[in-house]
Amino acid sequence: MKKQEPKHVTKHLFITGGVVSSLGKGITAASIALLLRQRGYRVRLQKLDPYINVDPGTMSPYEHGEVFVTDDGAETDLDLGHYERFADLSCSRASNVTSGRIYLTVIERERRGDYLGKTVQVIPHITDEIKNAIRSLDGDDVDIAITEIGGTAGDIESLPFLEAIRQYRQEIGPQNGLFIHLTLVPYLRAAQEMKTKPSQQSVGILREIGIIPDILICRCEHALGEEHLSKLALFCNVRRDLVIEERDVAQTIYEVPLELARQELDTYLLEMLGLHVRELRLEAWRAFVQRVVAPRERTCEIAVVGKYTRLKDAYKSIYEALDHAAVAHGVGLRLRPIESTDIEARGAAALLDGVDGILVPGGFGDRGIEGKIAAVAYARERGLPFLGICLGMQCAVIEFARHVAGLEGANSQEFDASTPHPVIHLMAEQEHLENLGGTMRLGAWPCRLADGTRAAAAYGAAEISERHRHRYEVNNDYRERLEAAGMVLSGTSPDGRLVEAIELPEHPWFVACQFHPEFTSRPLKAHPLFLGLVGAAAGRTAGTAAKP
Ligand code: GLN
Repeated sequence: MKKQEPKHVTKHLFITGGVVSSLGKGITAASIALLLRQRGYRVRLQKLDPYINVDPGTMSPYEHGEVFVTDDGAETDLDLGHYERFADLSCSRASNVTSGRIYLTVIERERRGDYLGKTVQVIPHITDEIKNAIRSLDGDDVDIAITEIGGTAGDIESLPFLEAIRQYRQEIGPQNGLFIHLTLVPYLRAAQEMKTKPSQQSVGILREIGIIPDILICRCEHALGEEHLSKLALFCNVRRDLVIEERDVAQTIYEVPLELARQELDTYLLEMLGLHVRELRLEAWRAFVQRVVAPRERTCEIAVVGKYTRLKDAYKSIYEALDHAAVAHGVGLRLRPIESTDIEARGAAALLDGVDGILVPGGFGDRGIEGKIAAVAYARERGLPFLGICLGMQCAVIEFARHVAGLEGANSQEFDASTPHPVIHLMAEQEHLENLGGTMRLGAWPCRLADGTRAAAAYGAAEISERHRHRYEVNNDYRERLEAAGMVLSGTSPDGRLVEAIELPEHPWFVACQFHPEFTSRPLKAHPLFLGLVGAAAGRTAGTAAKP
């Protein structure tokens, strides 16, 4: 008789947070994913967000930080960026689910009549839908699914999520699911003491709803002494060896996985889940971290001219991608974030003097646009390496149209509906849309790069795929005039209809793209366009690049 293969089971890890927000749950989840991947396991990640927006797509970056876009076109939380960068995998729509999405599904179902006769309630209907979202990660191609619960234990709005993971683990059993609680052990300077009480209380809150953490990860500023570790174990009901310390890392968040590996967190996890502890291959990651922390002789300074520069998280992936490129080139990176409205007030030269390269990122709305256009002009005229991304490319086209192609008053219809030269205009399929949520041109689309262009050389490929998030595009009626004036349309959609990338061949390095390369840059695989920008900028500091 043929022996039956044992049925594949996807194991689950649930990560909750306690005491305060911003503890770095995302980085911890991402670090665990990296370790498990490097032990040869297939991992999927997911973040459950307790807010009512269906997705963060319509939120201001000031509210929420960057909106991260997945290949399949979901607008998601920036923690997914950490997931992708650490674990080098591609997230999907299933990787970020909000309360709003859950409620929308349940309410739509109620309107269809699917619950006829029933009262629709948080328990079981909302919690069932949350469990469906968790279960959607299961598959023959997934060994371990990691679900991070947004918010902090004790928040009213995260209660249904906690109840759902409690039920879920009850159903799959402790050999198939583990609770990891991330908590804060603060240091009180006046008392010169580390305090474990907040963690005890936060575990107490979880216990009240029936969750007993299997593993406690303690964020702390200073090393925890044995007395703290055993106290936490005793009062939080966690095995002493499963109280893990996650101290503030000195130089780079990419050290976190190494710290967790040092304490063998991944080994414990695998043992508790009954999975084979395979060899851990961290050499490449370790070497990368060494390159990050090693002193770098040369340094270049890149200005990022945006309108949310006061919040570091608003351009998270861009800053990370610049870092990856700088590490790959072995040059130090100084970032100069500049508010484009400040350029409008004080002039480009006052703010951009001395930089080696300029990046204009994506954005929406007309605030600060003229400042961005002035920054593009500054880069173009002085031969400063330039990378424009999405809105940044649109600004580059407007600047070139106005100042080189002689199209006075050229603009995007987004900022000036009655411009005489709408060089950037609304995409045809956007014209009759009523809803703003989730209706942009989103996700990965193929792009064809023209032979002999800088973009094609940077990628070393003619066909690429990149992620998008926009409503406006280059107006094809202006293509000829832009090209006649010297702009090269280096990338288009395969059918040639949409301009996806432009460049200026006479300039040392002036490249812009309609898509968002920052989302696919990885620590060990810096993105070609960021490598191009930083390489050209670093070349200037070394005095090797062509000067204007
Ligand atoms: N606002 C522009 C558009 O919708 C650019 C979008 C972006 O930069 N992500 O096309």
